[in-house]
Amino acid sequence: MSASAKKTYRPETRLVQSGTLRSQFGETSEALFLTQGYVYDTAAQAEARFKGEDPGYQYSRFANPTVDMFERRMAAFEGAEAARATATGMAAVTLALVGQVKAGDHVVASKAMFGSCRYVVEDYLPRFGITSTLVDGCNLDAWRNAVRPNTKTFFLESPTNPALDVIDIAEVAKIAHSADATLVVDNVFATPLFQSPLALGADCVVYSATKHIDGQGRCLGGIILASQKFIMEKIHVLLRQTGPSMSPFNAWVLLKGLETLAVRVRRQTDSAATLAVALAAHPKISRLIYPGRPDHPQAAVAQKQMRGGSTLVAFEIKGGKRAAFRFQDALKLIRISNNLGDAKSLITHPATTTHQRLTPAQRAELGIGDGLVRVSVGLEHPDDIIEDVIAALDAA
Ligand SMILES: *Cc1c(COP(=O)(O)O)cnc(C)c1O
Repeated sequence: MSASAKKTYRPETRLVQSGTLRSQFGETSEALFLTQGYVYDTAAQAEARFKGEDPGYQYSRFANPTVDMFERRMAAFEGAEAARATATGMAAVTLALVGQVKAGDHVVASKAMFGSCRYVVEDYLPRFGITSTLVDGCNLDAWRNAVRPNTKTFFLESPTNPALDVIDIAEVAKIAHSADATLVVDNVFATPLFQSPLALGADCVVYSATKHIDGQGRCLGGIILASQKFIMEKIHVLLRQTGPSMSPFNAWVLLKGLETLAVRVRRQTDSAATLAVALAAHPKISRLIYPGRPDHPQAAVAQKQMRGGSTLVAFEIKGGKRAAFRFQDALKLIRISNNLGDAKSLITHPATTTHQRLTPAQRAELGIGDGLVRVSVGLEHPDDIIEDVIAALDAA
């Protein structure tokens, strides 16, 4: 069983060892249980299992040993009482919100968020009579003023996508709790290595495991972490009955991803910080945003709540869309893709891809100019990454 049950190991150790359920064969690597269902020794055992009186597995939509190991390891790493894995990050976000509300309720969310999350809050929930207010997440008064008597939950991501704003999680949690609401944090950009929203006062943390947790571009996944009470009351039954469960194969890939998460994220963050230094005074860049730097607009908040910078760097290229396109097309090593957190360095032009659904005014509000690009720094040698960016800027 879990090594961390005996002693509290440090985060890196928990990422490698926690949650392992070793079978009777004594395998070193986690076993991949590709099974839909389970058999029972007797009819009485089947009855007991369905009554919840016998602790085994029933059906992989409900639970599977490989998925269980991923949930246990993530919970141990995050310091959460319980976790439920989902098919994708969006399934995790959707369940974490839908599981808490009913018609007539109200949700407050930071307007700077991943495009699909914004769709869920702004377009999907209102179809079922759940209203929402989007606020500037960095403005604490905006959160306070958005509260209504029927507000049930707050939702935010920090750092935000793509402009890397940093929102004060502890302060927003206080505002939520004084309104008897909960706070859900999408912690994808910070990663569990560098930010612990539950310790800062959040009630629930969600991840797209597709990003740094896999980190090698292989599979989709998501996870919801919270107290045992939150998971059992809001998530457990909804996930079992509606079925956006994680596949055991993806859980196995993600377990392998967790073993190297700390090594990868530290190295990618160091390279991203080095790239930010190399670009800070570049004449073709009008604005550089990196959460680890003292010139970041919310540097003090980042300092207070994050243990590291970011694997992402955003910058505005002078000359708008034309210059940004010329720059991206001139890159030789860094590939154009909307994904992030990968071992391969990737670049995105949010205004024409991930955030093209927004109006120009909405984009301006979020600091997404036509010249803004976001680089997800990978595991290549940092000098090769920097040389590629500098050469492409010269060509732009
Ligand atoms: C990618 C991402 C998601 C959605 O995750 P999927 O695994 O693609 O469904 C949600 N939030 C953030 C911040 C993301 O980067």
